[in-house]
Amino acid sequence: MKKDNKIFVTRPVLPPRDEFHQMCDEIFDSEWLTNMGEKHNLLETRLKEYLSVDNMSLFNNGTNALLAALKALELPAGSEVITTPFTFAATTHVIEWNGLKPIFADICPKKMVLDIESVKKAITPNTSAILAVHVYGFPCYVNELEAIAKQYGLKIVYDGAHSFNTRIDGKPISEWGDVTMLSFHSTKLFNTIEGGALIYNCESLRTKINDLRNFGFQNEVTVNDVGINGKLNEIQSAVGLLNLEILDDEIKCRMNLEQFYRENLAAIPQVSVPNFDSGESNSYQYFPILVDSDRDGLYEHLKENDIYARRYFYPLCSEFAPYRNLESAQPENLPVATNISRKVLCLPFYGRLFNDERKHDIINLIKEFYA
Ligand SMILES: *Cc1c(COP(=O)(O)O)cnc(C)c1O
Repeated sequence: MKKDNKIFVTRPVLPPRDEFHQMCDEIFDSEWLTNMGEKHNLLETRLKEYLSVDNMSLFNNGTNALLAALKALELPAGSEVITTPFTFAATTHVIEWNGLKPIFADICPKKMVLDIESVKKAITPNTSAILAVHVYGFPCYVNELEAIAKQYGLKIVYDGAHSFNTRIDGKPISEWGDVTMLSFHSTKLFNTIEGGALIYNCESLRTKINDLRNFGFQNEVTVNDVGINGKLNEIQSAVGLLNLEILDDEIKCRMNLEQFYRENLAAIPQVSVPNFDSGESNSYQYFPILVDSDRDGLYEHLKENDIYARRYFYPLCSEFAPYRNLESAQPENLPVATNISRKVLCLPFYGRLFNDERKHDIINLIKEFYA
């Protein structure tokens, strides 16, 4: 196969070139490139409408947004934050960067999100918050987590990098928790090249979060917080505005692709596809499968044939050098996460793949591997 024949796990949604160029001209003419410009503010308004939320602050990436979220909640220095090992490295890193201590709890086998019993067991007098992840867009057990947080006086932050527009019974997923982070990285369903946002239910967090996003400046001469530079610029906001207009078409194609995969994988007993609970909407961010036999062999077989699936999330965050010596990082503490990280495989998943004949190759290669 030719080099350009490679199929990657995703391809970025790109806006129409001419419309993007026109927006660039507007930005050049305005000479306003960043610092909460016109396109930035319009994108924030449009996204709030699209997601049916009241409070949102845009950021230049999801990681900075999550850093600011933890900072804004003013958790006691050195306190413990319960989190999942089955996620992208950024989730754990932001806890450390805030001078807090990550404590890993196990996940449940069904939806691969934090297991409630395991969270309860991890609580100590030093616990200040839970940083949970709606992994692959599967909603966490939000009501159970909320009950725990109430009982023990904990904050809840959600890493919603995979749950753009995920809903439970029609309600936006961000209605649960103190703060929810979204990532608009190029590999995510909705992208601004690099970008992200925080959504929060308590309006009083807005000033704090927006100050943290801008070096802690409250006004021209007053800095009251140890802030960062988290600002989304005008060019990236323009990409967001244009991508938002084609998002529904992208989702439709991904829905069709998901159906294609589900129908065709049903005949392969070594492979299973996790399901959403009723009332939960899929965010169409990834298409994870669980492989019962020789996941790495299948991964290599696909790769040899130019199909680049990804083993998200393998290794676990608890296996990375900065964390693997923590008591909570030991595999005995995380049996389900350890097991699932050795079974999971994310198949190529993006809108244009539905109209690509090579989607059949992916199915045939999996069948061939197990024949
Ligand atoms: C992508 C991702 C992030 C990081 O977001 P960036 O916008 O790339 O900084 C954090 N957590 C999870 C689960 C992600 O998938």
